[in-house]
Amino acid sequence: MDTEYAAVEGHDVTTITCVCGNTVSKEGLIQANSRGIPIYAGDDVPPGLAPWPTDEDLYTLCPSCGRVYSDAAVEETGKAPVAFKVDVATGAIAEAIRIHWERS
Ligand SMILES: [Zn+2]
Repeated sequence: MDTEYAAVEGHDVTTITCVCGNTVSKEGLIQANSRGIPIYAGDDVPPGLAPWPTDEDLYTLCPSCGRVYSDAAVEETGKAPVAFKVDVATGAIAEAIRIHWERS
């Protein structure tokens, strides 16, 4: 299967327009770790969320469709290939997304 690409401007992950059409200003985009789990920037990590990765290997999760983009790839190449997809309808990541929005 061909790699899908999101639209992105100026190597900036916050400008991603997901393949599904979602953006920061629509459904929002969530910073996640290399498994697609939403991360929490702080010491007191709420249950269900992941701690900020110490290696700064950050990803951007589209909570609308579950596509995940590598921040490093965007910053280095100015393109946003879909790195992998996660299940945002059910399971641990769906729950983490709910917790993320509750806290922000
Ligand atoms: Zn999407």
